[in-house]
Amino acid sequence: MKKSVSSICPLCRGKKSEKFHEAEGVSILTCLDCGLKYSHPMPDDKTLEKIYGEDYFNSDAPDQMAYADYNAEEREIRRASRKKLKWISRYTSPPGNLLDIGCATGFFIDTANKMGWDVAGTDISEYCINYAAERFGLEVYTGRIEDIKLKSESFDVITMWDVLEHLKDPVSEIKTIHGLLKPGGVFTVMTPNIKSLIARVTGRKWILYQSPHIHLLYFSEETIRLLLEGNGFEILKIKKFWHGGKYVPVRYALERLEIYSKIFKPLRWFCRVTRLERLTAFLDIGDNMVIYVRKKTGAER
Ligand SMILES: [Zn+2]
Repeated sequence: MKKSVSSICPLCRGKKSEKFHEAEGVSILTCLDCGLKYSHPMPDDKTLEKIYGEDYFNSDAPDQMAYADYNAEEREIRRASRKKLKWISRYTSPPGNLLDIGCATGFFIDTANKMGWDVAGTDISEYCINYAAERFGLEVYTGRIEDIKLKSESFDVITMWDVLEHLKDPVSEIKTIHGLLKPGGVFTVMTPNIKSLIARVTGRKWILYQSPHIHLLYFSEETIRLLLEGNGFEILKIKKFWHGGKYVPVRYALERLEIYSKIFKPLRWFCRVTRLERLTAFLDIGDNMVIYVRKKTGAER
């Protein structure tokens, strides 16, 4: 019999939950009302600020969540950014005003800027924002989006890559995003999918369930719909494959696959002897979903 835990779901405010997993001294609960999985207890703001310091992006001992050297991936990030901007352009008439929440060192917004977009970015990491401001001279802000007073209804597009799962209060964030978008504006968000094949096959051992002190929210198509449709957005498309991919050196991709399962060992060996591992490939193991939504106009609400 699973033990019920006293806590409030950050999505539906439901009070009934059960423990799903525990790692790093933090539990992952499943909300029995809406199905969202979330960390409990949530870290305080001071702890979060510490997590996303320079070490997160240049880690001596990167775990599954941190980056060994984020800036070394600049070329790959820019290549993927161009792909992402092309996909977004299907739902809006580009270029326009674009805000990237969690912009890190600014490669995505700088790429967008070079493609003609007017860009702005935010990140809670001061290290990242200083880097983006000094190197690219872009309009960037440090802090949480709720605390930065940007002009309401001023963006055609807002993007959020690898951020939603790190938030404590997704509803407040989504409401803020809704207020910042022009009517009809497009919001694109990428987050891991707990119903992806890899998550189902690996169960509690899924790599992304092992850092609940960093990843605080775990969505499925159902719960992401609840969050977005419940806060004034119309779903345009949910992409559960390909759009969540990135350019990675083949060698690195194979190393990651081998962490998931030893069955990839022969493939790695094959790529080493054929020197295929030196190439860069656009890889998507299907663990993320990318959601494209449109802000409803006043009349539609
Ligand atoms: Zn819930």
